[in-house]
Amino acid sequence: MLKAILLSIVFPSVLAAQTGKLDIWWVDVEGGAATLIVTPTGESFLIDTGNPGERDAARIFDVATRQAGLRKIDALFTTHYHGDHVGGAPALSKLIPITKYYDHGDSVEPEGSGGKPWIAYKSVAAGNRSPVKPGQVIQLREVKLDVVSSAGKVLSKPINGGGPNPFCDGAIQKDIDKSENGQSAGLLLTYGKFKFFDIGDLTWDREMMLACPVNKVGAVTLLQATHHGFFNDASGAPALYNALKPVVVVVNNAPKKGLQPSAYELISKLPGVEGVWQLHEAVDSDKAHNTAEQKIANPGSEDQGHWVKATVAKDGSFTLTNSRNQFSETYQSR
Ligand SMILES: [Zn+2]
Repeated sequence: MLKAILLSIVFPSVLAAQTGKLDIWWVDVEGGAATLIVTPTGESFLIDTGNPGERDAARIFDVATRQAGLRKIDALFTTHYHGDHVGGAPALSKLIPITKYYDHGDSVEPEGSGGKPWIAYKSVAAGNRSPVKPGQVIQLREVKLDVVSSAGKVLSKPINGGGPNPFCDGAIQKDIDKSENGQSAGLLLTYGKFKFFDIGDLTWDREMMLACPVNKVGAVTLLQATHHGFFNDASGAPALYNALKPVVVVVNNAPKKGLQPSAYELISKLPGVEGVWQLHEAVDSDKAHNTAEQKIANPGSEDQGHWVKATVAKDGSFTLTNSRNQFSETYQSR
């Protein structure tokens, strides 16, 4: 008993973080991205940091410390250098230590307004940056992270049981994207049977490279809808998402950003999809193009900051929870 008390004084952050389950939080950053992953052994891995300024950094810090019990973030993985994905990094790094920084390499938009968040990121991450390549594996203790895209390139061969893709027939292709979106570094996380897929704002052209003529990703369990819910159809190639067959989709949209009716139509009708969860109600859409109210963390247009969480057990069962109303639903990995 005394030993346990002493241990809890010496290693409070480690003890608090070790739940034996994999936890994923989608922090509400109002149409940006900030996805915090804490592994069963307490390793922490944050994908993106939301927008510049104090609000989003404070929200990530709050979830990291009060929900996850963290004292530091082991790694920040930045998908790309648009402000809604990397903007919070400087403020967050002042609130909590960040040990390591993964990214896609240098920005392709170094000038003008697109360059500001990149320059700010470079200075906080200096000396601790580690650019990633497709095919690279980031191995944590019980969790594997496969890099599927980075710097405009994607996996050269299938992983995770990927193969011929029947959804490529007649699939629409789009022009090569030259912005930071198309540079997005993306990940497939594997924890036993559970697979989580997050490719930031990767664009339609690169989604097609991942999907056709062979599906290089295989099937996934939980999809973070790309580009805040296929924003303006710049992402959302059906050939990829039909082949991924997610059980659950989480959309980190904003009241008026992402998840237009066409995106909701695609997501809600993917083969085998059992649940769609949204960070926000898409206020310009009707009820038929939003998920059930209890699975929307932030209804209406007000800035409320409620998060969505997934807790994944070792056997592959996982539970989604809405922090606004504590509504939860449990699903099985296939
Ligand atoms: Zn974005």
